[in-house]
Amino acid sequence: MRIRVLGCYGAEMPGYTTSGFLINEETLLDAGTVASVLTVEEQLKIKNIIISHPHLDHIKDIQFLADNIIGKKDEPINLISTHGILDILRANVLNNIIWPDFTTIPSYNGAVLKFLPVKGKARCVIGDITITPVRVNHTVEAAGYIIKDKSGAIVYTGDTGHTDWIWKIAAKEDKLKAVFAEVSFPNSMAELADISGHLTAEGLGRELQKMSGKDVPVYVFHMKPQYLAIIEKEIGLLNNTRVKLLKQGDVIEI
Ligand SMILES: [Zn+2]
Ligand SMILES: [Zn+2]
Repeated sequence: MRIRVLGCYGAEMPGYTTSGFLINEETLLDAGTVASVLTVEEQLKIKNIIISHPHLDHIKDIQFLADNIIGKKDEPINLISTHGILDILRANVLNNIIWPDFTTIPSYNGAVLKFLPVKGKARCVIGDITITPVRVNHTVEAAGYIIKDKSGAIVYTGDTGHTDWIWKIAAKEDKLKAVFAEVSFPNSMAELADISGHLTAEGLGRELQKMSGKDVPVYVFHMKPQYLAIIEKEIGLLNNTRVKLLKQGDVIEI
């Protein structure tokens, strides 16, 4: 599995863009950053978009991607998430007010996007990958995902505060090769992290104990750029060399 980091921060400012990961060239994992980084040719190769939750920093480039490729693809792109999250996108974003409903244009039969709901705990096979959504603890309905291909499995937490289920599943996953985990705030802002459903470095340290025994790399994303230096220092204080901060443009091969 090859994971290209298109964006990995918890806010947008010059040099820093929001969460978007491209898996094996054809599947997006969150769509906070897509259209501003990939060429149109690369955007045309995308077959699936997996969405962790409906916050703008994870969905905003669905709209610009759809606009860029309309009329240029034979098959719709699968927009994959839970029923609840897809309902929120349909009602609030792709609602012909905020943005056109690209699941019905240019025509019902030839639309740009197609909603593909997945049930919690149920595996869903899409091309050469298998995905399993796992409910996590955020301020809106939110899912992390276990994503597998023939090379192994990764865990992606999406945005989450302290949570248990995804770590229990990670602990049991035989082929686990890497974890992508969020850390948004410095330790001094733990209270804000808690009420906004996010983690600090210390908080991630506690979460990782829930999958003790798994000696895999942990790639940290969703850092607020204004606190990046302090978060990096606090991740270092965990004394766990497996935990690394992601950067835009990184490519992770498992
Ligand atoms: Zn969020
Ligand atoms: Zn976010």
